[in-house]
Amino acid sequence: MNVDYSICNALNYRTEDLTDTLLIYDIGCQWWINFLSRLRQSKTLSIPEQMKLIVAVGSFHLGAHIPECFVLFSLHFVLGAGQLDGEILETLWAAFNKISPSARSMSKAHRREVYDDHMRDSNFKKLVGMGACICHLSILLVLTLRWAVTMLVKKHKRAVAGLAETKEAYLALENSLDTAKTQVWKRQEQQAMKERGELLRIFEVKADKGDELCTSMQSIMLIQITKLQLRLKSALL
Ligand SMILES: [Zn+2]
Repeated sequence: MNVDYSICNALNYRTEDLTDTLLIYDIGCQWWINFLSRLRQSKTLSIPEQMKLIVAVGSFHLGAHIPECFVLFSLHFVLGAGQLDGEILETLWAAFNKISPSARSMSKAHRREVYDDHMRDSNFKKLVGMGACICHLSILLVLTLRWAVTMLVKKHKRAVAGLAETKEAYLALENSLDTAKTQVWKRQEQQAMKERGELLRIFEVKADKGDELCTSMQSIMLIQITKLQLRLKSALL
């Protein structure tokens, strides 16, 4: 319920012209199942009527899900998502590596308390940092803009170089395949990207008993094409 509340409020805040939303949540696959029916039953929670939701799971967490979740919730199969891992908090955990040697000999309860203390301290510093940022908003804005421009120029250079590299490999692979098949795969991919849901299952690795080798090869090639296309698209973004 807390997650529903947070998400509904976020989706209703200054989103008048927003028609598509990418929602990344650690357990999005389970949370999403009854989300809309919970909203229909709720008197207080809602999302904008025109809003189309795409639910995904962050790359770090998706690795721990069942294989069936992969194609339906991977950011690799969301058009326009680029190279996104969808994680934030977990990257802050790296700093806790410094305290792990001292916590190693502790009991489980003691270790949990120590980790909690450090995490609360980290959260507190983040909160205080936000206040400092608001106080220096104008300086921050200039610095942010400068940083954003520098990053975009850097990413553009990397994208141009990456595009040349991936295009060559992609064309070599495509030319080695049966044109009729690649056309079918491309149509399937476009449809899956547009309509999503079960259509995304085309990206799953298939191995039918009767024609195992052939199907496996087909799946591998399909994956390779998908990867190359995704790299191309992300390079273009
Ligand atoms: Zn899952």
